[in-house]
Amino acid sequence: MKVKFIGGAGTVTGSKTLIESNGIRILIDCGQFQGLKPLRELNWEPLPVLPSSIDFVLLTHGHLDHCGWLPRLVSQGFRGKIYCSSPTVSIAKLILLDSAKIQEEEAERANKEKTAKHEIAEPLYTVEQAQEVSPLFRSVKHNETIMLDAEISARFFGSGHIIGACSIELILEGKTLIFSGDLGQDDDVLMFPPIKPKKADYIFVESTYGNKIHPEEDVKLLLETYINNTYHKDGTVIIPSFAVERAQTIMYLIWQLKLEDRIPNIPYIIDTPMGVDVLNVFYSNLNWHKLSKSECEEMRKVFTIISDYKETIETIYDNRPKVVIAASGMMTGGRVLSYLERYITRANTTLVIVGYQAEGTRGRKLIEGAKELKIFGKYYEVNANVIEIESLSAHADQKDLLNWLSELETKPQKIFLLHGENQPADELRIKIQEKYHYDCTIPLMYQEVEI
Ligand SMILES: [Zn+2]
Repeated sequence: MKVKFIGGAGTVTGSKTLIESNGIRILIDCGQFQGLKPLRELNWEPLPVLPSSIDFVLLTHGHLDHCGWLPRLVSQGFRGKIYCSSPTVSIAKLILLDSAKIQEEEAERANKEKTAKHEIAEPLYTVEQAQEVSPLFRSVKHNETIMLDAEISARFFGSGHIIGACSIELILEGKTLIFSGDLGQDDDVLMFPPIKPKKADYIFVESTYGNKIHPEEDVKLLLETYINNTYHKDGTVIIPSFAVERAQTIMYLIWQLKLEDRIPNIPYIIDTPMGVDVLNVFYSNLNWHKLSKSECEEMRKVFTIISDYKETIETIYDNRPKVVIAASGMMTGGRVLSYLERYITRANTTLVIVGYQAEGTRGRKLIEGAKELKIFGKYYEVNANVIEIESLSAHADQKDLLNWLSELETKPQKIFLLHGENQPADELRIKIQEKYHYDCTIPLMYQEVEI
C-alpha cells in the first residue's frame, strides 16, 4: 500500500494522511492549515488526488486542524462516508459551521476594506458548504471494529485530548497501522488517559510537544493567584481558548476554586458562541469524560455564557474586574480580539495563555515577548501581564508521548512522526530511537512511502 503525507507533516496543522490499497483510498483526518501565511495558502491548493476518488475519511477528532478542510473536500466531489466517534460528529459540525462563518465574515470585511490582493476575496468555504458535510458523518462506538471493505477494518479508541478524540487502528493487507491522532495528557482533569497501543506494524504519532516536558505545577494554585492578583489591581483576566480546547478544563478549575472559596465573586464569562453547544456535547456524552451530569450542571452555573455580540460589547466596556474565556485560543481571530483591543494596553490586565500556539500566530508572538500586537490592522502596545500555563495543554508532552509507546508487545516496523514542527519532531525521533530502538522517521510534506 501507499501512504502519502498531504498535511500535518513538518507542521502541526492541516492533518491529512492518504492511504491507498488495492484501489481503495482512505484519508485519515482532513484538517485545515493554520498559522503562517504560506501554510494557510495551502488550503487553496488542490489535493494530489481527486476528492471524488477518495472512498472514506476517518477522523481522529473535531479540531479544525483535523477536520476543517472537509467542506472543500465535499464541495470538490467527495461523496464517501466520514467515520468518527459520536462526540466528534457533534464537535466537528460545530467547528465547521463556526469556521465557515469566520471565513465568510473575513471575506466580507476584506471586500469592504478592499484589503484583499485578489479582486474579490472569497471564503475558503461557505456556511452552506459546511452544512453539506453533515449527511456524510457516521458515528462509531468506542473500540468497535468496523469493516470499511471485506478486507479493511478500523477501530477507534480514546486518545484523551478533547471530548471524542480517538486514535485509529486500521488493518489492511494483513498489516496494522495505528494513527495516534492528538494525544492528551495522562493526568488530565476531565479526559481519560490515552489508551496505549499493544501491537502495530506502523505507527503514526503526533509530536506537537516532542521536545517539551510540561512543568510540574499546581495549575489550580496558579489560576487562583492570577485571578486574585488581577482582582486586587481592579483588572481583567483574559484566557484565550477555543470552545473545545481548554475551555471546559478552565471552567472546571474555576468552579472548584469557587467551591473552595479561593477566588472572588466577580463575573466569570465564557464568550464564545459555541460555548453552550459544547457543554451540551458534554451532557450528551457522559461516558467520554470524567464529569457526571449534575457536575456539568453545577459547573455551568458559575459562568455567564455570552452568545450575542451585543453582550460582548457591553462586557468589554464594563470596567469592573472579571475573568473572560474567549475564542480563539491562538488569538488568530474570534471574539478574544475585541477584548484584546481594549485590554492588552492595560497594565492591570492578565492574559493567561493555556494552549498550543503555532508559529505565526499572535499567541506565539506574545509568548515570545512581543511589545506590540496588530489587531484589525492597528498596532497596540502590550502592557498586559502575559502568562503561559504550559501544563494546562491538551497535548501530551515528550514524556507522555514516549509513555504512549511503552506497552507495545512487538517491535513496529516503522514509526512516522507527524503533527510537529521540525525541532520537536526531531527531538522526539532521537528519544524514541534511544529508548526503544525503533526505526523512526519524519515524513516530508507530499512524501509518499510504500509499506
Ligand atoms: Zn487537536
